[in-house]
Amino acid sequence: MSIKYIFITGGVVSSLGKGLTSASIGYLLETRGLKIAMLKLDPYLNVDPGTMNPFQHGEVYVTDDGSETDLDLGHYHRFTHSPLSRASNTTSGQIYDTVIKRERKGDFLGKTVQVIPHITDEIKSRILACAKQDKETQVVLVEIGGTVGDIESLPFLEAIRQFRYERPKDCIFLHLTYVPYLKTAGEVKTKPTQHSVQVLREIGIIPDMILCRCESPLSEDIKAKISLFCSVPQEAVIDEKDVAMSIYEVPVDLHRQHIDEMICRMLDLQTPPASLVKWEKMLENVLHPTGGKIRIGVVGKYMNHQDAYKSVFEALHHAAATCNVSLELCRFESDRIDANQPLEQSLGGCDGYLVPGGFGERGWEGMVLAAEYCRTRKIPYLGLCLGMQVMIVEFARNVLKLSGANSTEIDINTAYPVISMLSEQRNVQNLGGTMRLGAYPCDLLEGTIAFQAYGKKLIQERHRHRYEFNNEFKKAYEEKGMVFSGTLERGSLCEISEIPSHPWMLGVQFHPEFKSKPLEPHPLFREFIKAICYASNRSR
Ligand code: GLN
Repeated sequence: MSIKYIFITGGVVSSLGKGLTSASIGYLLETRGLKIAMLKLDPYLNVDPGTMNPFQHGEVYVTDDGSETDLDLGHYHRFTHSPLSRASNTTSGQIYDTVIKRERKGDFLGKTVQVIPHITDEIKSRILACAKQDKETQVVLVEIGGTVGDIESLPFLEAIRQFRYERPKDCIFLHLTYVPYLKTAGEVKTKPTQHSVQVLREIGIIPDMILCRCESPLSEDIKAKISLFCSVPQEAVIDEKDVAMSIYEVPVDLHRQHIDEMICRMLDLQTPPASLVKWEKMLENVLHPTGGKIRIGVVGKYMNHQDAYKSVFEALHHAAATCNVSLELCRFESDRIDANQPLEQSLGGCDGYLVPGGFGERGWEGMVLAAEYCRTRKIPYLGLCLGMQVMIVEFARNVLKLSGANSTEIDINTAYPVISMLSEQRNVQNLGGTMRLGAYPCDLLEGTIAFQAYGKKLIQERHRHRYEFNNEFKKAYEEKGMVFSGTLERGSLCEISEIPSHPWMLGVQFHPEFKSKPLEPHPLFREFIKAICYASNRSR
């Protein structure tokens, strides 16, 4: 049978949750036994989001093959089993880069190189490449970034129009729009949706289904109106109301409106019905935990950005749900932590602390103070990437008494470079694509917290960093009670540090958050939360 394609566009405003919607639909199709693949097309000109500031773009999601991708791939990972690699995220930057390189090579045989057909052909070939990643793929979901009407997304829309023209039976278009409620008028407004569908029609795309983001469910009258104006059957006007508590409610809401059944009908896919039993059980734990409440402080430098630590927050929620506790996240901007104030005052009040990844000097010392606070007060601490480096530096300064110890990222002239760049990388000039990226194996030491959490000796985790623990200091750390419980290739690089005399203090050079799923919480996050529950039960 031919592969089917679902294209998801967005209208009216950005931030409607197209990634979440696409991922939720992907999940529903998987529960019907279909093998899916997901692709995000991003209209910006950066080759990848790796060089973008988290304030601009939110989290950079890293895949096993070391691609730095859009954070929507994190949603795809959490909701589905779609293969995720460099074939799963394409930007305009990549498309133009490829076409221009081919032009320089003379591949176009003297022709004028144009947006149509050369750019659109390249876009179409990327869609096919995503479908070919796994030969069992039956359905490809393609999310088009940006909002319909943007100049920069036009080539993508033109490409998917052509794609459907070439495969009329195998493609459908879903359009996610916004239906606002006007308080003063006391009613919901369909006009923005009508206009955004009009813009799509001008390009030659007629949506098969309209998903309406709204505050509360739409009445049948409103659905009838949207149906009439947009030439979509009324049953295919779906409301996607704001979820009350958790993003994991979205698939359940969509399934209730028969979205998966309708999609299968439109694409002529014969499958058994969806089964959401496991998902609903997980959701019950997310929505109604019975084991009390814990507070976790996240101490980082991009705390004001909603999405900068997306996977970290999600991984904490997954772990809290399995431990049946409700989780309150407290955000601490690390550059506001004042060394002259008592730490209780600037940091106090949480049952455990997490220091996530980051780059550069701003806020660094505040994070070191957070590590000191947790180590000396015996409060559970989890450090991710930069968070492990912080833990290492704090230990050097305060336990090994190496005054001024630092990471060379922060102080290139430090007398004690306990975190430094590997000598072979020191000549790095380009900031794009020069990090240790993607999945690396890690050997675990038996009898450690890490080994106990994973329950096996060999694991694989994803990296995204330039600096490493400096092995010249390893012995000094071990003598003072730090254990390096995870190493790359039998000791060559230290990947996990832990302090056995502390109730739970662990740092990892990798990013476990990228692998956590609501149905498969990450073992380190789970153990971190368990340790917090244990410690806070004891102190109650
Ligand atoms: N800035 C640090 C490094 O490059 C940590 C990176 C991170 O936390 N992802 O090594």
